[in-house]
Amino acid sequence: MFQLIDLPFRENELEPVISAETIALHHGKHLATYVNNLNNLLPGSGLEELPLEEIVTKANGGIFNNAGQILNHNLYFEQLQAPRDVNCPMGALATAIEEQFGSFEAFKEKFTTAATTLFGSGWAWLASDAEGTLHILQMPNADNPATKGLKPLMTMDVWEHAYYVDYRNRRPDHIAAMWKILNWQIIEQRYIL
Ligand code: MN
Repeated sequence: MFQLIDLPFRENELEPVISAETIALHHGKHLATYVNNLNNLLPGSGLEELPLEEIVTKANGGIFNNAGQILNHNLYFEQLQAPRDVNCPMGALATAIEEQFGSFEAFKEKFTTAATTLFGSGWAWLASDAEGTLHILQMPNADNPATKGLKPLMTMDVWEHAYYVDYRNRRPDHIAAMWKILNWQIIEQRYIL
């Protein structure tokens, strides 16, 4: 049985970037529903004993959609923290970003374009391959870089439920604000481990 993760922050701690109301809905309703759905679908599937990362590479249909959404949201919520005005990566990940994209600002611009132009519901990802090379991906619906053999490092949720209460249809404004609440220590750990 999969469990709903605890948030590493209080519901109001991401304000004004994300409201307590959005966090309560996003975690307590949307993510909780994916967890309940997956726990109902798994018995008899032959996938019951596998971790989420493996389920998403093997399943399709409802099991894939719900397992993917749990994996994606766990990665999303665990990489967030209270807003800070100056917020950028350090260490090996910062070096890789500078080498590949020229600068953190150039990377931000490229990732922002991926997140804002993704059509419909989905996720923008920063991922790395076996050589440590970085990739920016647009993935629809419940998809995750693990389905392409890549390691997910950082993500922005561009399903409307992630921002509609706070930003209505202004997805670009939400994406622009998200840079203040990324926990780059967590993201860096994902890169180096
Ligand atoms: Mn979501």
